[in-house]
Amino acid sequence: MIARGRSRREIFWSDRKITVRFAPGGAKNAGTNVPIREKAHSGISPAGAAENAARGIGLKVLLMQSFQTAATVLTHRLPRSAKPHARILPQRGVRMKIAIRMDDITADMDWDRFLRFQSLLDAHGVRALLGVVPDPKDPALSIDPPREDFWQVVRQLQEDGWTIAMHGCHHIYTTKSGGLFPLNHFSEFAGVPYAEQADMIRTGKEMLASHGIGTDLFMAPGHSFDRNTLAALRENGFTGLTDGFGTAPYRYCGLVFYPISFDRGSVIRKGGSGVTTFVVHADTMTDAEFAWYESVLEKQDVISYAELKEMPAERAGAARMWQNRMMAAAKHAAVRASELAHAGRRKKQGQTG
Ligand SMILES: [Zn+2]
Repeated sequence: MIARGRSRREIFWSDRKITVRFAPGGAKNAGTNVPIREKAHSGISPAGAAENAARGIGLKVLLMQSFQTAATVLTHRLPRSAKPHARILPQRGVRMKIAIRMDDITADMDWDRFLRFQSLLDAHGVRALLGVVPDPKDPALSIDPPREDFWQVVRQLQEDGWTIAMHGCHHIYTTKSGGLFPLNHFSEFAGVPYAEQADMIRTGKEMLASHGIGTDLFMAPGHSFDRNTLAALRENGFTGLTDGFGTAPYRYCGLVFYPISFDRGSVIRKGGSGVTTFVVHADTMTDAEFAWYESVLEKQDVISYAELKEMPAERAGAARMWQNRMMAAAKHAAVRASELAHAGRRKKQGQTG
C-alpha cells in the first residue's frame, strides 16, 4: 500500500514489506528447502548467503535460526559439520521483549489512526515512545487540520508515563546521505555540516521546552544520522537515540542506542532473549496491521518504552557500529529489490502510477 505522498521507502522499511516476504521459519519448514532468503535477516546479502551455503558455510547458522527443535534439525539434510548442539536450542519458547515507538507525531497527523493505536496500547497497559517533530515542515506528515490542544495532549501523555523523543527538527530531507545507519538514502541530518546540525538540534529542543516537553532522546527522521549528529546531540544534552540493531541497549560515542527490530516477523516467529523496538507509523496503518498489532499485544511480551530506557547498556565499539551499518545497508538493498519487483509486477499487469 502506498500512503498519501509519503516516501515509499521509509514506509516500506518501517515494518510492512519485509515481514511478508519471507517464508515462516520453525518446525513448519522441516522437510522443505533451507530458506536461503532468510539469510538477508542476518545482514548478509541473499547472493552471498547462497554462495556460503553452497560451500557448506553458514548452513549451520541458518539451521540454528530456522529450526527450533532437535527433531527438525535431525530430520533435515545436514552436512557433517552441522550436528545439532545443545547450545543452539535453549532459546525455544523464549519471547523477546518488545517496546513500541510511534513516529511522526505532529499536531496535524492522522488523529483517528493515532487514537486507535493509542487505545490499543492503553488496553494492554503499554506506553510507547512518541517521536514528536518540534517544528514540522514536511507536507507528507500533514493529514488532519492541526489540533489546537496538541501540546497539551503530548504533555498529558508524558505525565501518564509515555516516553517522548525529539523526531528531528523540521522532518525535511535535505541530503541523500544514509549516514551511519543507512536504512534510507536521505536525511535531515546526515551529511549536513556540524554547525547547522547543532543549530537544528538546539532549536528543536528549545521549541519542545517552550511547550513544556523535556526529552533527552532523539529519533532521527529516516533513521539517518552521522558522527556530527551524535556530537551535536551530546552537546545539547541528549543521552540516547532510538536506532541501531541488537538485543540490548548499547553505548557508543557517549550515547545509548536503543535498538529497533531488523525484522519484526522474525522476532515473533523465532523469539529469543533480549529486547527490541517495533517502529509504528500509525498514519499509514491498514486494518490488517492494526489486527496484527492487536495479536502481538495479546500474545507477546510487549513492554512500555520507559522499561527499555531503564535497561543497562552494553559497551559497543567500532566493530558493532560497522556491523549495524552493514545490516542497515543490507536491509535497504532488500527493500529496494522488493520495490523493484513490485514495480515490475505492476508493469506486467498493465497498471500505472
Ligand atoms: Zn518520521
